[in-house]
Amino acid sequence: MIIKGIRGFKDILPEETEKWFFVESEARRIFRLFGFAEIRIPLLERTELFARSIGEATDIVGKEMYTFRDRDGDSLTLRPEATASIMRAYLEHGLHVKEPVAKYYFIGPMFRHERPQKGRYRQFHQIDAEILGVQDPQADAEILVMLVRFLETLKIPNIALQLNSLGCPACREPYRAEIQAFLRRKQEGLCEDCQRRLEANPLRIFDCKKEACQALLGDAPIILDFLDEDCRGHFEDVQGLLRDLGISFALNPRMVRGLDYYTRTAFEVIAGDLGAQNAVAGGGRYDGLAKDIGGPPIPGIGFAIGMERLILLLDGAQAFSSRPDVFLATLGERAKREGFSWAQRLRGAGLRVELDYEGKSLKSQMRKADRSKAPYVLILGEDELHRGYVTLRNMATQTQEEVPLAEIGNRLKNLKMG
Ligand code: AMP
Repeated sequence: MIIKGIRGFKDILPEETEKWFFVESEARRIFRLFGFAEIRIPLLERTELFARSIGEATDIVGKEMYTFRDRDGDSLTLRPEATASIMRAYLEHGLHVKEPVAKYYFIGPMFRHERPQKGRYRQFHQIDAEILGVQDPQADAEILVMLVRFLETLKIPNIALQLNSLGCPACREPYRAEIQAFLRRKQEGLCEDCQRRLEANPLRIFDCKKEACQALLGDAPIILDFLDEDCRGHFEDVQGLLRDLGISFALNPRMVRGLDYYTRTAFEVIAGDLGAQNAVAGGGRYDGLAKDIGGPPIPGIGFAIGMERLILLLDGAQAFSSRPDVFLATLGERAKREGFSWAQRLRGAGLRVELDYEGKSLKSQMRKADRSKAPYVLILGEDELHRGYVTLRNMATQTQEEVPLAEIGNRLKNLKMG
């Protein structure tokens, strides 16, 4: 029996990778316009990095991490998200001293042991962007504008930006007490997990997927009513900046995000076309994270986009083809050999060339050319070689002409650009 892959760990097959490449290159292009530089972080970190930043009471740390002891006995974890690692790298390499304001992006796989379903996997990919070292609301607006522009560039339909402010620890303490008191009155209706959350970290009850728990939260007090003056001012400034830029958003005071490190601005992008797993991106400000992992108090804000969900939303009408510019069909031993050299020459000139290696019949090569979706086919036979010509066939119009071999590179390039 063939050994199978692991549940929730998807292969991305060649027919799909062109979309991934497109999304990644558009991200790099847009993020560069905003002055973001790529950072690459390792797959594995010390478990405590995530436990201390994301929070022990979160689903991610409590239930979902891939944690194991390595041969030295150290507890290591496959990264479930990127922000904590990026902050670690920024502090560890003294980047906060060299370039206190830093803008980084990262693209790569994350690992969470969740129940796999459409749009939810155990290995999934995120595009991350972070602004470190800036407290100003302009950083919040900047990261949101970049996220929205990127999604617009990809023509993602039916998306809505939702905003909330989670305040700072000083606003959160009285809110936590209030929500705890409110929910204690309804304790019997809460699921077992939420009963536990009620004592450990009552805000996490907002993450619960169970309808019964969500129903109890219907008229719960909201954090926005507990913001102190600074946090309220910050949030108003962020909204004002977004309005200036014509970016539409809705307030969602019940959105708390599944990670403990968020402070002040928190946001999600919801896609109408995704079904149950409808959050395509999420993020927020994390002004306490650097301190949580042993560093100085450095503010930050960022987002993570789920690539699998983003790719599900890409318009089917957009062309993501890996088709060659031209297919080279040859007839006879000598033409096969010469054609092989010609293919390398044309590639050297920047053309994508596909060919048949097996000396199949012309009919079979034409079938292969058709499948490859190449718009042009070059047919090279003994006779053409002898005369220094090649037959150029336009697959759309089904017409063909003879072109001198020496001119074929330029001719194809002109056709490609035209
Ligand atoms: P989070 O890091 O939980 O804030 O998630 C940010 C984004 O990553 C979400 O909005 C999703 O698009 C994506 N995401 C999170 N978990 C998964 C998963 N298990 N499978 C696929 N995408 C995910």
